[in-house]
Amino acid sequence: MRLFLAALLYSVGFTAVAHTASCCLAADAEPTARVLFVTQSTGFVHSTVNRGPNPLSHAERVMKEIGVRSGLFRVDCTQDVATDFKPELLENYDVVAFYTTGELPIPVETREWFLNEWLAEQGHGFLGIHCAADTYGEYEPYWDMIGGTFDGHPWTSEATVSIRVHEDHPATAPWAAAGKSFVITDEIYQFKNWQPEKVRVLMSLDMAATELKRPRHVPVLWVKNYGEGRVMHMSLGHREDVLSNPTYQDSLIGGVEWLLGRVDADATPNPELSAREQEKAETAAAGAGG
Ligand SMILES: [Zn+2]
Repeated sequence: MRLFLAALLYSVGFTAVAHTASCCLAADAEPTARVLFVTQSTGFVHSTVNRGPNPLSHAERVMKEIGVRSGLFRVDCTQDVATDFKPELLENYDVVAFYTTGELPIPVETREWFLNEWLAEQGHGFLGIHCAADTYGEYEPYWDMIGGTFDGHPWTSEATVSIRVHEDHPATAPWAAAGKSFVITDEIYQFKNWQPEKVRVLMSLDMAATELKRPRHVPVLWVKNYGEGRVMHMSLGHREDVLSNPTYQDSLIGGVEWLLGRVDADATPNPELSAREQEKAETAAAGAGG
């Protein structure tokens, strides 16, 4: 009995100390956020998420490293949504990031809860990386959330393309530091179910400056408000060297900072920009064909 009482007192004392500590910490600095990084592939498996004999894949190591480097967030990784993508576990996270393909085995009730409740909460965010748009292609609530669906990649992983930075945002600042456009070698997705009226496009393929031309606007980075939550999709990131690129990493860090609401930036949809880029792409493709 005495032992039990001692344990109880210790426990009460410990709770009080812990409470005081978290009180003071919150006043001085933002707490470290938590990111759940899902890299399960039920469709195409990128080499970047293949763990092989290692405990983590390249993409997972990068996400963990940039969390530590930024001091902003801590990353837990999963390739098993059936076990780890559950409401009682997701309540521990601030941001969910997908580098996924195919129809993931998440029960539809959990998907609905995630999209309608979890993600709509202030301070919660969804980060789609590269093939996140090649996930749940037949499930409208998902592509409606993310903004579009994978529709082929005429620009393969060996293609060197030109990307234009349109808007100021914590996620574009690292790229914009070198100017309004940059050249990169990476696989570039086209999108169907594209909803320009719901997203703010931050970067696009510069069709006029890219060798292979197609008569369509190809957005590369965009953001949107989602209820009280936030969404960002970064289309770059097929190649390991892109994931290792410090500018790319800083762009993701800026994006997560914005998703968490630690910094504000305009997410007003800019469909006029998509319309303008569509016209420019058609002109560039017509010129190349003629
Ligand atoms: Zn890819």
